[in-house]
Amino acid sequence: MRLIGHKKQIKYFEKLIKEDAFLNAYIFSGLEGVGKLEALKYILLKYVCEKKEGCGECTRCKRLKKLSIPDINFILPDRISENLNKMYEEGEWSFENLRTDKFSRELVIGIKTVRRIEEEIKFKPLELERKFYIFLDADLLNREAQNALLKILEEPPDFVSFFLITPFPDSLHLTITSRCIQIPFFSLNFEEFKKYFGKRKSLYFLYRFSGGSIGRAKKIIDENLIEEYGNFLKEIARNENEEYFPFKKFEKSEIKNKIFLFGFFLEELTKIKLDKKEIFRDHPYVAEIEFLSSRIDPYTLDFLYEKYYKILEGFKRNIPAYFLGYLFDSLRFGLP
Ligand SMILES: [Zn+2]
Repeated sequence: MRLIGHKKQIKYFEKLIKEDAFLNAYIFSGLEGVGKLEALKYILLKYVCEKKEGCGECTRCKRLKKLSIPDINFILPDRISENLNKMYEEGEWSFENLRTDKFSRELVIGIKTVRRIEEEIKFKPLELERKFYIFLDADLLNREAQNALLKILEEPPDFVSFFLITPFPDSLHLTITSRCIQIPFFSLNFEEFKKYFGKRKSLYFLYRFSGGSIGRAKKIIDENLIEEYGNFLKEIARNENEEYFPFKKFEKSEIKNKIFLFGFFLEELTKIKLDKKEIFRDHPYVAEIEFLSSRIDPYTLDFLYEKYYKILEGFKRNIPAYFLGYLFDSLRFGLP
């Protein structure tokens, strides 16, 4: 398995594997798509591998790839895990296809799931030295479930390790995060990013737009978000804010992209004000962004940031998209 970047994090776990010195709980945090789960897959392969290399060829490696080692458990939102058999049959549930941003943020990991884990961890691992429980979107744990998880983390058996993967570690109670080792994952640098995507048009722009996250960059390509960003800039530049900010109810999936695009827009304006010329490299919409920057003064930018952070906070706390839409609308008043 090939992994790009995150060398320090991997080195840390390679040492743990060698010494079998895993602790009870880890939080993997960092931008969506940056490689948290990919790194964990890489670590798990090394751990289970009969040669401790993650060769991908030995029986254990192959079984992990089929997700059929009973001591390694991936925890999904409740409604999804009920349909796991179907997903498994359709090939959607496989080691390669595991992703963290696959599930709508309206789903939850509830108390039943955590209670089930509580029962299971009373029993020793079946074939490995330890049992792993991996929460693919730990921020979906609801309040009750977090309280139950806290109880487990207060006195876990030695042979259990939890991995909580999330781009929003703040959504977890401090009482939980304080019992975990937090492993932060940072954006890739441009050289690493280039290794993955090779030559393509506006590559540097894609790098900045995705925040150096391969997963996010793939999504940007799949969902044509560069074009959507262009449309957004053009509409605002033409003073057609109503097009982009219709007074209507948003779907959660829709608002997620809008928040992302708007956040990037603010970042660009800030960089222009700071005279960071690198933003014009490869930029497909230079004229629009320069024009808009000249029309938005620092005070207005401040207003936009304040509103933006409120919306982002609401999104992290799973406030219904409906209400976020109202907040989002208020942004139009700060635009030219
Ligand atoms: Zn192997």
